[in-house]
Amino acid sequence: MASGGGLLDATGAFRSTIFDETSALAARHGAVNLGQGFPDQDGPEAMTEAAVAAIRSGQNQYTPAVGHPRLRAAVAAQQRETQGRELDPDTQVLVTCGAAEALTAALLSVVKPGDDVVVLEPYYDLYAAVVSFIGANLRPIPLRPPHFTPDPEELRQAFTPRTAAVLVNDPHNPTGTVLDAATAEIIAREALANDAVVITDEVYEHLRFDGAHTSLAAGGGRSSLDPELAAAIAQRTLVVSSASKTFRATGWRIGWLTGPRELVTGARAIKTYLTHSPAAPLQLAVAQALENPRPWVEDLAAEQGRRSALVVNALRDLGLTVADPAGSYYVVADFSPFHDRLGVRDSLELSPSLIEHTGVALLPVRAFASARNAALYDGWMRVAACKQEEVLVEAMNRLKTSLA
Ligand SMILES: *Cc1c(COP(=O)(O)O)cnc(C)c1O
Repeated sequence: MASGGGLLDATGAFRSTIFDETSALAARHGAVNLGQGFPDQDGPEAMTEAAVAAIRSGQNQYTPAVGHPRLRAAVAAQQRETQGRELDPDTQVLVTCGAAEALTAALLSVVKPGDDVVVLEPYYDLYAAVVSFIGANLRPIPLRPPHFTPDPEELRQAFTPRTAAVLVNDPHNPTGTVLDAATAEIIAREALANDAVVITDEVYEHLRFDGAHTSLAAGGGRSSLDPELAAAIAQRTLVVSSASKTFRATGWRIGWLTGPRELVTGARAIKTYLTHSPAAPLQLAVAQALENPRPWVEDLAAEQGRRSALVVNALRDLGLTVADPAGSYYVVADFSPFHDRLGVRDSLELSPSLIEHTGVALLPVRAFASARNAALYDGWMRVAACKQEEVLVEAMNRLKTSLA
């Protein structure tokens, strides 16, 4: 991707603009904002109470840079239970300021200027920004609508000896899809053959609607890969997750990175000089939540499944093509049938037009793509279905009234 001349490449600068402009325009028009993906409810009450108690009881100074020992132990236990991974909490778990910092530290520790980073597109905007800060090259491989799977040959070809890392977000933002076994196998084989590190962004690990999430780094017979490949890939994978989506605490900025000791040590060296450590009382509160996941995480997934289904059904009733979501907060649909009706040429123009004419704010999926491939996603809009049911019903009624 060409550099835009500043620190942020042209696409990254464009993305941050469209996210902010959509929210600002939505506020001016009193629109229901299903653009940005954050919940409109709090996390588990025991977790928020634990944060207050931690502050009152004097847990208010730096924790070790690697994170509070209680939270590291809770992360290791959660990964053993859900993914069959055996992690030493002292050397294989790093607490970070959100998944954002975990991803940043992972990339900075693994990727050098001029290296290639393979990513499935569309992708979370931070990936392109950090790769551009490093002076490395993003190699986006498109997930092709309407099913959002990659062309297997194109994915294979993306890997070369220059590939330092591959970024995998599963369950996927923005499409709501989950990684299929065939794509997982190509990524694992090519990463191994080209000596690339796998960085998995699993912030939606507890937001699967049908069955459990399986990490690319899963062990204990849980992986869909053959056992030898699974063991090899776990040895080169950094797994990123966070409290933001699982415990509805996007404003707390508590995330973590796990993986083999050498890779975590590298990321830890960088992370120490980014933020040192996140808020001590909030680390303790998240530890409390991770130690007591039930019934919260099951209820969360079931509730999100109902919300996403509500949005899917409403959009299908409008005659739109909708990609079946299997997880995450999002639903994507092809709104191009409405381009003519609203007098817009593409989904970049549709976004503000929807706000003005229907009172609903959505983000164009092409804003999550590289300039080279953006046109592939034209027409597709992302709906953040992580809001309370009555908010979603109101938004869907507004679309129906204005567009049906
Ligand atoms: C929300 C999100 C993040 C950022 O998570 P934080 O823990 O809030 O930093 C990272 N990746 C994806 C795909 C996300 O949707």
